[in-house]
Amino acid sequence: MKRCTRCGSTNYVKAGFRKTKNDEVQKYKCKECNREFTGVEKFHQLSEEKKELIFKMYKEKGEQRKIARILGVHLRAVQHHLKKN
Ligand SMILES: [Zn+2]
Repeated sequence: MKRCTRCGSTNYVKAGFRKTKNDEVQKYKCKECNREFTGVEKFHQLSEEKKELIFKMYKEKGEQRKIARILGVHLRAVQHHLKKN
């Protein structure tokens, strides 16, 4: 479960996409404090389950960008993880 990065609330709504250099990420808006945040997880926050999924999807010829979007993680986190293996 994602939480607001400011107040920790889980009371938020989807608020469109933020474009980054290589991708776009889902944005959320907290209904408690109006903070906008993205749902992406940085590498050090990835669960073991997600790390496994990244590897599995990549082996099945998944594109790194697509993997990142489906799992809601940073593209760089995906790349970093795959480099390690
Ligand atoms: Zn908040």
